[in-house]
Parts: sequence; structure tokens; C-alpha cells
Amino acid sequence: MEKKAQFPHRRWNPLRQAWVLVSPHRTQRPWQGEVSQKTAPSAVHYDPECYLCPGNKRAGGAANPAYDSVFTFVNDYAALLPASPPETNLQASSLLVAEPARGLCKVLCFHPDHGLTLARMTQPEIRRVVDAWTREFEELSGLDWIEYIQIFENRGAMMGASNPHPHCQIWSTGFIPDEPAAETKAQREHFDRTGQCLLCSYLAAERASGERVVLENDRFAVVVPWWAVWPFEVLLVAKRHFGALPELNGTERDALANVLQRLTTRYDNLFETGFPYTMGFHQSPTDKSPHPEWHFHAHFYPPLLRSATVRKFMVGFEMLGMPQRDIAPESAAERLRACSEVHFWPRD
Ligand SMILES: [Zn+2]
Ligand SMILES: [Zn+2]
Ligand SMILES: [Zn+2]
Repeated sequence: MEKKAQFPHRRWNPLRQAWVLVSPHRTQRPWQGEVSQKTAPSAVHYDPECYLCPGNKRAGGAANPAYDSVFTFVNDYAALLPASPPETNLQASSLLVAEPARGLCKVLCFHPDHGLTLARMTQPEIRRVVDAWTREFEELSGLDWIEYIQIFENRGAMMGASNPHPHCQIWSTGFIPDEPAAETKAQREHFDRTGQCLLCSYLAAERASGERVVLENDRFAVVVPWWAVWPFEVLLVAKRHFGALPELNGTERDALANVLQRLTTRYDNLFETGFPYTMGFHQSPTDKSPHPEWHFHAHFYPPLLRSATVRKFMVGFEMLGMPQRDIAPESAAERLRACSEVHFWPRD
């Protein structure tokens, strides 16, 4: 890869069936170690104004219980509603097309402590979150109208997180959204054409090369994908072929908690800050069709480029042409591999 990394090229993303432009020559200069101040994590364990803290009143009027582990509720300002809309014809012409969209939006608090993040939670605490994700997936997939369940976390003000309290969202929809729909198509085509799972084969290739592997345990691996767009984007991939959380056994749930903690700790240590990102799991659709092609994974999309404050923007050619990156994925993986798995700001 060393030679290839020197000149502009484009890389194929087989999971999304799209290209990404890589221009590593633009960052030939070595890292100047732009020294940023360590950013202390929040020391606030309870915020009386936070609508996610235990015992507090939410804007909708409901009160949170005095929960001591995880806590889930239906979003008071949901983007989608489960009620079936009246059968109205929204289509104005063959080019002005719309249709009713149903969904259920939930919030899951990871921990009662307002100041924690996944990186600073213990593995048993993260395991409880994994169990809660699994329970939610099982319950929601039992609703016959739900075709897809998206679990995602927006972390940090830079990613638009409106509240620092450790939490994620779970949006379940009566349709398969565009990203997982594109990945379903790509995985199915690969499976039909080769008889192999796309991500099983991809992970084997990554592990054989090792260049982009950040960390792994017995059950999961984390790589900076060949086609990464964001500077420190990673793909968390299950080593065993399965489609969704309910298929994980207890050992695998612990292993998932283990990689999540190790990865988020490395992320925080990279710029000694609470590393912002959007992360989410991609799992088999729950549209009641078989999905032998689907391989469980998670994407982490962090915006930071050079320091705790310098971020990458997706503008210009990227909005009008295609995504582009400056740091080669191999260099990003190397930098993440060099980070410690002991958090720079230990929990007291
Ligand atoms: Zn809070
Ligand atoms: Zn697979
Ligand atoms: Zn995906």
C-alpha cells in the first residue's frame, strides 16, 4: 500500500456501491503534534436541568424514574409517529411523489451518571447497554409493521447532540431507510453472485493484510475501512456471520462491550478529548423476509481531522462530486493502533 498511498486514487466501497477519492499527497507533511489542551470530561454527575437524568421532569411533562442502570422511553419529540395516517393521496404528479411514513422513536439512557460516556463506563456497564439494545430490538421487531430498526448515538456538540447525558436513539421504521437499503442490495448481489457473504470475505481480507485493523477480540474486529470517508471512520465487524443482536450469545455480548469500550477509549485518547462521532449498528431488516446475506456491523463516523477542534467538512466537491479524504486509511489505522486503551482521564 505504501506506494499507492502517495498518489490520488479512488477506492470502491462494495457495501455502499460507491467510490471515495483518496488524496494522501495533500498531507505529506508529518504530524506536527498540534498540541491541544486535554479536555476534562464533565465532572457533573447529575444536572437538575437535564431531561435524561434520573428523577427529572421531561419537557413533555413525564418524569423519569430514579433509574440506576439503563432507561428507555418513547421520544417526546419523535420524528416519526406510529399512528397509521389516513389514506391520503400525497402524489401530486409522477415526479412529485410522497407516501406516508410510520415509525417509533425511542431514547435509551446508557447510565444514570450525567457525566459518563461509553469510553469511561466499565465493561459490565456497557454489557447492560448491549442487553438493552437486544431487548429493544426483540420487542420492536415483534411489531409486524416495523421493517427496520436503527440504533444510533450522536456524541458531542459537534455532531449536534443536544444533551451530553450518555444516551442513544432507536428509530424503527415501517420502511427500510436508504443506507441499509443500499447495503441490503449490495450484500444480496454479492451473496447471489459468489455464494459468499460480502463482509465475511471483506473481514478475512482485512485481517490477512492487517494494515487497517485497529483492534480485535475473539468475536469482533474494528478496521478503518478500505473505503473510509471520515478521517478516523471505523467499521466494527462481527467475526461470526449473523444478522442482528438477538443472535448474540452471552459471550459475544461481553465481547461487543469489550470492543466498544476499547475503541471509544482509543478515540478519546487520540486528541485527549471527548471524541465526537455518530455511530450506529446496521442489522438485518425486520421486514419478515429472510436475509441470509446480512452481516452485523457498526459504523463510527467521527468528524475530527487534526485536533480536538479541527474537523473535516463535507463541502464543495464532496457535495457535488464524491467524498474525498486526505489521510490514507492506513495512516489513520496506524494512529488509532498507537493510542492507549487506558483512558487519559480515569474515572474517579
Ligand atoms: Zn443528565
Ligand atoms: Zn458474513
Ligand atoms: Zn453498514
